[in-house]
Amino acid sequence: MYCKNVGARRADILRKELHVLTALDLLHQYPYRYVDRSKFYTIAQIEDEDTAVQIKGVITEWHPIGIGKAQRISATFDDGAHTCELVWFQGIKYLKLMFNTPYLLFGKPSRFNHEWNFVHPELTPMSKVTPEMTQGLEPMYETSEAMKRAGLNAKGMRQIIAGLMPELKQNGVPDTIGMDVISRYHLMGINEALVNIHFPKDIAHMQQARERFKFEELFYTQLHILRKQKKQEQHIGYAMPIVGERFYRFYRTCLPFELTNAQKRVIREIHTDMKSGRQMNRLLQGDVGSGKTLVALMCSLLATDNGYQTCIMAPTEILANQHFETLSAILRNMPEVRVALLTGSTTKKQREPLHEALRSGQIDILIGTHALIEDEVQFANLGLVIIDEQHRFGVKQRSKLWSKSEQLPHVLVMTATPIPRTLAMTVYGDLSTSIIDELPPGRKPIQTLHYSILRRSSINQFIRQQIELGRQVYVVYPLIKENEQLDLQDLQNGYNALCDTFPEYRISMVHGQMKAKDKDFQMQRFVSGETQILVATTVIEVGVNVPNASVMIIENAERFGLSQLHQLRGRVGRGAEQSYCILLTRTELSKETRQRMDIMVATNDGFRIAEADLQLRGPGDLEGTQQSGLPITLHIASLASDGQILTVARQAAKEILDKDPELSESVNTIYKRQLAHLRNEEGFYSGIS
Ligand code: ADP
Ligand code: MG
Repeated sequence: MYCKNVGARRADILRKELHVLTALDLLHQYPYRYVDRSKFYTIAQIEDEDTAVQIKGVITEWHPIGIGKAQRISATFDDGAHTCELVWFQGIKYLKLMFNTPYLLFGKPSRFNHEWNFVHPELTPMSKVTPEMTQGLEPMYETSEAMKRAGLNAKGMRQIIAGLMPELKQNGVPDTIGMDVISRYHLMGINEALVNIHFPKDIAHMQQARERFKFEELFYTQLHILRKQKKQEQHIGYAMPIVGERFYRFYRTCLPFELTNAQKRVIREIHTDMKSGRQMNRLLQGDVGSGKTLVALMCSLLATDNGYQTCIMAPTEILANQHFETLSAILRNMPEVRVALLTGSTTKKQREPLHEALRSGQIDILIGTHALIEDEVQFANLGLVIIDEQHRFGVKQRSKLWSKSEQLPHVLVMTATPIPRTLAMTVYGDLSTSIIDELPPGRKPIQTLHYSILRRSSINQFIRQQIELGRQVYVVYPLIKENEQLDLQDLQNGYNALCDTFPEYRISMVHGQMKAKDKDFQMQRFVSGETQILVATTVIEVGVNVPNASVMIIENAERFGLSQLHQLRGRVGRGAEQSYCILLTRTELSKETRQRMDIMVATNDGFRIAEADLQLRGPGDLEGTQQSGLPITLHIASLASDGQILTVARQAAKEILDKDPELSESVNTIYKRQLAHLRNEEGFYSGIS
């Protein structure tokens, strides 16, 4: 296919900016939205900045402002009833504005000094407006600065793609989905879809075209994942049939409380995998405080009993430290189980003996952070990898761990933020899932309230009232890396204000930049009940357990994401008393922030929160893997909103693989070829194993 209006320079820019190499690639640059050009507006009808509009009118006046490089042109546009300003910063030399000439103005309005204006609008003399221009839906394309400089703005892209249409309509391109699937799932064929995604006949055709391409992306994603999974099912895993001495001894003598039924059930599920002889890939979901750490420990003991080492990987150093301390404490009467810690703070001098002990099998359970992935860390016989709070790990980091054992170790991924099903299916294929759906006994649901900081004095009253009842209070400040100094200043100010307000109480303060010794000291004072209030950054997000602390105040709650808020909230509600979580924010909030607060107030259910998080932020953020975690980049489909299409696409992929797992039959060559093509194109990175 031949592209008109694309010379060497533009071709080069298209390649660099969009990875577009061929005319066909260009056809797969889908519009991100459409403007209804059959609709005409007046200036008075403009509602928001998001909708591009077209207005008929004349230029009544124009003049240059400024000089030299900063010069711009300002013009007044009159629609007969009202006027608005038009502004040009670039290409001023070429701008020809005529008076007394009716124009069709098209562009996105912006609000400036309570007036609407248009920056770089498209102006077409009415005499040149063709009927096609104001018919139906006009596609809008993403463009970059570099593209715009080469005339590849939305209009330029539109023209080039329009130039491809005659040939597409005449000759067509081969379909990338087999005819059987097309007809079975009532999909639009590729040629009709390519025409209608760019220049739709009407809204219904546009939607069908978009649906087809969404389906296609999700279908190939699923085809890839399911095929890999089928291969994986045959992966041999270390067989760990023994439930031995250490496991039983721990259960009988070290366990400080009875396991919940849910804990017992998931341990059984995990053990069934571990003894099966196939490699385990299991996701353990359990809300904050449901007791996952204990499950991790008991599974590690199963591995130990069978002669294998375990490593437990945590996302932060604090969490790794806490796991190490918790496990060491609970195992203090079982010195035969050797636990060690490896983090970024482990010194070189400590590392060497540690590495040696790992290699010679003298360490049973290694707890650590990213430091575990480094190449020098070698195990004698790593049999089980446990990853805590996995949503903060990239896919790449995970798979590096696997390479540390001769065959694939068993993998248990633990998360408190349940992974919405669409995401789990796509990023992890079908990891088997175990769910701890029960909290240890005696906990009351936390009550969550959202206040503006204007209500601070009543909050203070509430704090006093709770402390008088004998409770303790957390006050949490966000800490954002880029701005650490300012954030610490916030924390310090907050601490000072609390000291002034509550001279009668003792207050601890901890943050990540304190010396470990000082931090421990302050924490300890709070844990022992000597201080009534703990002012902290998110260092308390994980692990801290003070059952008597029943109030959590979250300052600047608008700066936290949903799952982080949920994690933080999990620090209270651990004792027998009614607990409260108070979200404090500015008064003026964006719509998205308000929704986030509303969800927190409405539910304690981690699943609902995770779903909402996915909706609000998109999967990239939530997963922390970005889209690069996906086998195939999604350009048009969204894991957040296309769950239904995903389910159907998965079904279609499954049917094909059930009949032909290797895709070796000739009818399926199309899929095999397309998969290889897509993976190449995306610089494919192999997923979980
Ligand atoms: P999470 O699932 O959030 O990691 P933890 O493992 O930190 O939860 O457990 C939360 C708290 O509950 C810890 O103090 C732990 O000792 C306690 N806990 C765990 N299991 C039980 C149980 N079966 N009965 C009572 N308390 C438990
Ligand atoms: Mg935990």
